[in-house]
Amino acid sequence: MKEPIFLEPILQEKLWGGDRLRSRFGYDIPSGHTGECWAISAHPGGDCRVRGGEYAGKTLGALWREHPELFGNTGGEVFPLLVKIIDAREDLSIQVHPDDEYARVHENGSLGKTECWYILECGEDAEIIIGHNAESPAALREMVEEGRWNELLRRIPIHRGDFFQIDPGCLHAIKSGTMVLETQQSSDVTYRFYDYGRLENGRPRTLHLQQSLAVTQVPFRPHPVERETVREGGAQVTRLVTCPCYTVYRVEVDGLWTRDWAKPFVNVSVLDGEGVLDGQPVKKGDHLLLPAGYGEMALSGRLELICSHL
Ligand code: ZN
Repeated sequence: MKEPIFLEPILQEKLWGGDRLRSRFGYDIPSGHTGECWAISAHPGGDCRVRGGEYAGKTLGALWREHPELFGNTGGEVFPLLVKIIDAREDLSIQVHPDDEYARVHENGSLGKTECWYILECGEDAEIIIGHNAESPAALREMVEEGRWNELLRRIPIHRGDFFQIDPGCLHAIKSGTMVLETQQSSDVTYRFYDYGRLENGRPRTLHLQQSLAVTQVPFRPHPVERETVREGGAQVTRLVTCPCYTVYRVEVDGLWTRDWAKPFVNVSVLDGEGVLDGQPVKKGDHLLLPAGYGEMALSGRLELICSHL
């Protein structure tokens, strides 16, 4: 049967979070410091439950274990991707993630973390930190030891609709005022590199300088821009990135869009608007999976989506 699997988001409080997950998306947030909406996740830190349909109430993690056919029997211990919406009221610390190999050895067999950001909202002169300006590992260490952060960190101006791929080893940080939709590997391994000297309950937060220096790519090489847009019936489909972990698309639907993805499964997040997906209403803030063998999907309405697959 053609049944999309809708998921209930899990809202996570963070010291740096705000209240826009409620004001923009209508989610029932636990407090005015809600930083993350885990929208499509089977990570132990937040395993989403199915909303309605044949699998109502089951977690995505249980579905992955008990019904591998829904995911094209791709194998693997865990559902490999995680889709989040982040609301940063404050600056996030400068961080870096390991790759699969480093995480496997040093983080109890965890996955590494490749992630990417689609900018949903930001202030007028907003910027983001991606990469650094050190030419060698020795220069990186020296600039860190001497606290030359302004010189070291690479700042980039951002606008709504911008997209950034963050490969393992890339220093990065979201700055205050920014909301992003993040598609990432299902992993929570983060090394905090620098926290602006801030205090939390009177103490600086733990930094992971040795691990950070060990995994940071030097010199930094920006990920090439891949954006490519095609018209598919009533939709404008932009492929934002293809990497070994995922492919991500931004889709603007204005009419009827049909597509047979022919993928093990597809993640769909509705960022704006409303419409009808094979007879079921979908609207801003919904997140769903199209399982394996779904066949041709028919989506009509006016919507902005981010879709991803392996
Ligand atoms: Zn990150």
